[in-house]
Amino acid sequence: MSWVRLLVRAGGLFLLTVSAVYAQESAAPPLSLADLDALIEEDSTTTPTLDQSGLIDLLALLGFLALAVTSFLKKSATLKYATMVAAIAYMGFMKGNLVSVVHIFALMDWSFPLFQYNIGWYVLMIFTVVSTVLWGRLYCGRICAFGSLTQLMDKLLPARWRVELPPWLERRAIYVKYVLLVAVLGYFLVTRDTLVYRYVEPFWMFTLSGSTMMWALLAALLVTSVFIRNFYCRYLCIVGAGLGLLSNLTVFGIKRWQQCNTCKICENACEWGAIQGSKISVTECVRCDDCEILYDDEDKCPHWLMLKKTVAKLEASKAP
Ligand code: SF4
Ligand code: SF4
Repeated sequence: MSWVRLLVRAGGLFLLTVSAVYAQESAAPPLSLADLDALIEEDSTTTPTLDQSGLIDLLALLGFLALAVTSFLKKSATLKYATMVAAIAYMGFMKGNLVSVVHIFALMDWSFPLFQYNIGWYVLMIFTVVSTVLWGRLYCGRICAFGSLTQLMDKLLPARWRVELPPWLERRAIYVKYVLLVAVLGYFLVTRDTLVYRYVEPFWMFTLSGSTMMWALLAALLVTSVFIRNFYCRYLCIVGAGLGLLSNLTVFGIKRWQQCNTCKICENACEWGAIQGSKISVTECVRCDDCEILYDDEDKCPHWLMLKKTVAKLEASKAP
């Protein structure tokens, strides 16, 4: 059996399991996007337009996004980790503001929240799409609260605990998230059930509101992430898969030297398995800066070291 067929079957099995768990846990009929729209409409009759707290939220979101972009453009590790901490604390626990598969459902239904009551929602969505087209999965690299959490875990936990998947498995496992993307969108098209998101992504954890089954799945996910870095993001995230596909349009990619064909420094440094030889997979890269900082490092990158050697030779040959 080919590995593609194996992955498709695994995705189907996963969805059947999710459906069974969902059917057991939920006595209420699933909420459709039309229901959500009705709730928003109903709410809009009592909710004032952008009030003081709404304005503060919007300014805080804009400030956070400005910090993220500044950290990226400046290639500052300190600002990047500050952005990640803010992503977990503010975007995650305080606001629960993450891009989710539910947003892809809304896009498929062309059913969006009312602009005047959800300006922050539109700002985050537009930022995510535009930054992905410009640079790639910047959202995954530092905006997403869950991705930031697992990346910080990876920095804090001892490296000796880490298990690297064999390359043949790694190369195949990255496709699981695309199988899940197709399977979950197919499931939504058939059932119109938006609540499936609770079992295919862990973002609800920031609202601290899960069932026993959901907490058990999350615990398994986090324990696995202790040993396999960025496990969910690399292999399972549906949003990451969607942004990965969008990354094929990236305008400003990562530059490479000719020496990258043989050098392995960046390939070994990439925590996302996105570098193979001189090639960078735009769908897997999250613009974490690690290889770009190495690329510019005149004391580590062979390109600069060879250049320095050549210049030194030339100067020596010119010396009287
Ligand atoms: S892959 Fe998913 S969980 Fe990971 S950072 Fe991206 S959106 Fe977040
Ligand atoms: S190390 Fe480079 S290729 Fe790997 S994720 Fe970071 S920026 Fe992308």
